[in-house]
Amino acid sequence: MVKVNIDRDRCYGLGQCVLAAPDVFDQDDDGIVWLLVEEARPEQHDEVRQAALACPRQAIGVAD
Ligand code: SF4
Repeated sequence: MVKVNIDRDRCYGLGQCVLAAPDVFDQDDDGIVWLLVEEARPEQHDEVRQAALACPRQAIGVAD
């Protein structure tokens, strides 16, 4: 399992994380990132890391 953290204060609602990992990230009515799961399943690890890299605000943390 990989733990996923988000910093909603940093998020600008650009949506790159949702495109990369739609089963892990969503956006609220204001477009701010919303976490659907706090621990990613093994098959989600690559897309979670991709989302963290894609976020232009470094709002996503991934910890093994
Ligand atoms: S990619 Fe980053 S800035 Fe964009 S919605 Fe996701 S967390 Fe927010």
